[in-house]
Amino acid sequence: MSDQTRFTLNETDLPRNWYNVMADSPVPPAPVLHPATFEPVTPDFLAVLFPMDLILQEVSTERYIEIPEPVRDIYKLYRPTPLVRARRLEQMLGTPAHIYYKNESVSPAGSHKPNTAIAQAFYNKAAGTKSLTTETGAGQWGSALALACNFFGLDLEVYMVRVSYDQKPYRRIMMETYGAQVFASPTDRTNYGRSVQAKSPASPGSLGIAISEAVEVAATSDGAKKYSLGSVLNHVLMHQTVVGEEALKQMDLAGEYPQVVIGCVGGGSNFAGLAYPFLRQNLKDGQRTRLVAVEPTATPSLTKGVYTFDYGDTAKMAPIVKMHTLGHSFVPPSIHAGGLRYHGMAPSLSAFYDAGLIEAIAVPQLATFEAALTFARAEGIIPAPESAHAIRVTIDEALDAKAKGEKRVILFNLSGHGHFDLTAFQAYLRGQLEDYEYPAEAVQAAIQELPKVAVEA
Ligand SMILES: *Cc1c(COP(=O)(O)O)cnc(C)c1O
Repeated sequence: MSDQTRFTLNETDLPRNWYNVMADSPVPPAPVLHPATFEPVTPDFLAVLFPMDLILQEVSTERYIEIPEPVRDIYKLYRPTPLVRARRLEQMLGTPAHIYYKNESVSPAGSHKPNTAIAQAFYNKAAGTKSLTTETGAGQWGSALALACNFFGLDLEVYMVRVSYDQKPYRRIMMETYGAQVFASPTDRTNYGRSVQAKSPASPGSLGIAISEAVEVAATSDGAKKYSLGSVLNHVLMHQTVVGEEALKQMDLAGEYPQVVIGCVGGGSNFAGLAYPFLRQNLKDGQRTRLVAVEPTATPSLTKGVYTFDYGDTAKMAPIVKMHTLGHSFVPPSIHAGGLRYHGMAPSLSAFYDAGLIEAIAVPQLATFEAALTFARAEGIIPAPESAHAIRVTIDEALDAKAKGEKRVILFNLSGHGHFDLTAFQAYLRGQLEDYEYPAEAVQAAIQELPKVAVEA
């Protein structure tokens, strides 16, 4: 075993393929349904929103899909990302556990999100798309896509959840710096946005509403505008597997193999990106790594949601998929981890959770900020509030290993840094942050509005 702290790969070690977990999935995928007819969607319906290459990736069962050279060239600006042994955190906790983190905060946008943004911009450009529309919660996805669109010469319209737009002006400026246009959602630019404004003038917005607006704009365009989603879909999760493929090689350099892999989950992409290559090793190679997805108690779609068919967005314009959901009409509380405020969860992750292949746990807001401070003071990096969910559970695992006197090898995904979230840290430091109880009644009401779909798969 090595006494190194950082495990870095060469540019030549950058993965050549994305890993498509659907090739190894022990559970068959549920059909994706049209939001109006409830019939399985046709490629024609999806082609209004996405370029054909991405639609093919969405339904592919090929195990590996080659990463195009122009995408790898841009990845090289920040990949391979470092794997770091958190020795100072281990010492601070006095734990025999070995803690590693994959540092995705080193990308230009400050999170894992460029891994798919760059790929999506590439395939859109190749298909002749002129302009993309998208939603963003905390602003991380919008800034990642703004970066990618800039590199490929695409225009970008971003519908940003209003509460984040107000709390995080610097992300908006970042998107504008890369050349994107940013609007606070609900806006008055779409039919759906205007209808939400009319009903609830003080709406803080939600990812579901912002998705509806971005989808409406692309769907009603002449075809030159397409829509781009930063999480949830199969192809998005697949693009993120560069994270786990690199981590496998780096754990090898460290001479260890993780017993626990941890990531926070909003739609599931950074967790899947790190965990799916390890899931492959579990399924194919007899490894027994525990894969732990961490969500906020305020939006606990895995641990408290229903596993059923639901719309991907609030306005019922996006396809219906089978997933763990709190109901498409549920508007999550305004927690600071804006990137985790989504009513549903990636269908593949939902299926694997249902099949017992991954674990899930929900943690409250204050405990995540406490963990974020511990990590910042030990390792020097101020984590994103989203990533702090993974850190909370990592610390709890390390303390559990200490209580049991076990050496446990833990790997988590540091999905991003928190440099644009400092007002949230300020609120925590001043004692102004609160925990949100699980909003049981609001979820109960939203569950009543699930689509009554006949198929069961
Ligand atoms: C967007 C985001 C998340 C949540 O999205 P996933 O698709 O679940 O990964 C987590 N961490 C950071 C830093 C993000 O920007």
